[in-house]
Amino acid sequence: MSISKVESIPVRIKRDEAYLGGIPVAADPQAYFTRPPYRALYSACFETAFVKISTADGVIGWGEALAPVAPEVVCTIIDQLLTPALLGRDPLDGNALWNLMYDLMRERGYYGGFMLDAISACDIALWDLRGKLLGQPVYKLLGGAFRERVPCYVSGLPRPTAEGRVELALDYVARGFDAFKLAAGHGVRADAASAKSLRDALGDEATLLLDAHWVYSLDEAVQLGQALADLGAGFFEAPINPEDVESHAQLAAAVALPIAHGETERTRYQFRPWLMQKAADILQPDVGRAGISEVLKIAAMAEAFNVKMAPHLSVGLGVCIAASIHAAAAIPNLYLLEYQPPVFEIANLLLKSPLTCEKGHYAIPSSAGLGVELDDGRLGALQA
Ligand code: MG
Repeated sequence: MSISKVESIPVRIKRDEAYLGGIPVAADPQAYFTRPPYRALYSACFETAFVKISTADGVIGWGEALAPVAPEVVCTIIDQLLTPALLGRDPLDGNALWNLMYDLMRERGYYGGFMLDAISACDIALWDLRGKLLGQPVYKLLGGAFRERVPCYVSGLPRPTAEGRVELALDYVARGFDAFKLAAGHGVRADAASAKSLRDALGDEATLLLDAHWVYSLDEAVQLGQALADLGAGFFEAPINPEDVESHAQLAAAVALPIAHGETERTRYQFRPWLMQKAADILQPDVGRAGISEVLKIAAMAEAFNVKMAPHLSVGLGVCIAASIHAAAAIPNLYLLEYQPPVFEIANLLLKSPLTCEKGHYAIPSSAGLGVELDDGRLGALQA
């Protein structure tokens, strides 16, 4: 039993509303844009990179990298650097294959970014393949589920006004959801007011979270952090530039609420200083950037520091979502997994049988592998 074929598939699917809402769809699907005050590049499409790893007897494993822009970069890395290393290898050799891929460019400084995104897509595909070869769902191979369903929070509330966000949140409350994250970073006063309006509307029992998208200085973050602590918020995510571990450590010491960090990091090595310096209370690796193997290792390391996990899950589609659910099920120190309803709907369009997320919980797929099958025909039809 050996790997006989690796295929990468860049994906670009048109959508009516951009991620986080509010941006009209560009005529040119590759015309990327920024959304001030955020500095990152966004796409008007859902973009991602799938990988399909097959054995000679036709068993297929699906993987996906989080690739919100330029998925072709990830695909080129898979095609030119990773595929030659994987062909002919035994797909059951999980950790050995991860190290083999990681070592290929390590000495040249490629131990993050697109390189790790590509490795993660292959890592996820290998877990799916192993599950299918052994006839077991991935969470079983990871050591078993710590819970029957995976608790989640509704992320983003993409409405331009506080009233709109409250209305949207109340709509989810009526459907059994009780945890919400604001996509903030619009100034300390505006963010605090936005969080308060949500707390006032939802009551004390709801879980209120805030993502500042790295826009604040340490002083501003302390001010906002204190306001959020007064509102009993569950965490304060991405307050300060992601390279600044020291300021996050000072913030974490100054405010009485958990600081969440991690969608920018990909490996146990990158998370190590955050734990050593007590700079984060909740870690948020994305399975589409770290892979299932590394997320489990990061979680084990965090557990030893009494730190919880809230895996990031943004524009990853069906494979990435399923992989995140399996990983989250198998992590003892899970807080909550992210849930992006508009992305989830598009993801399900690509799957032969849909994933479900109801009453604040993801169902854990129970069939072999990741338990999802991509519909090649629908994927082709939806490509921009
Ligand atoms: Mg975030």
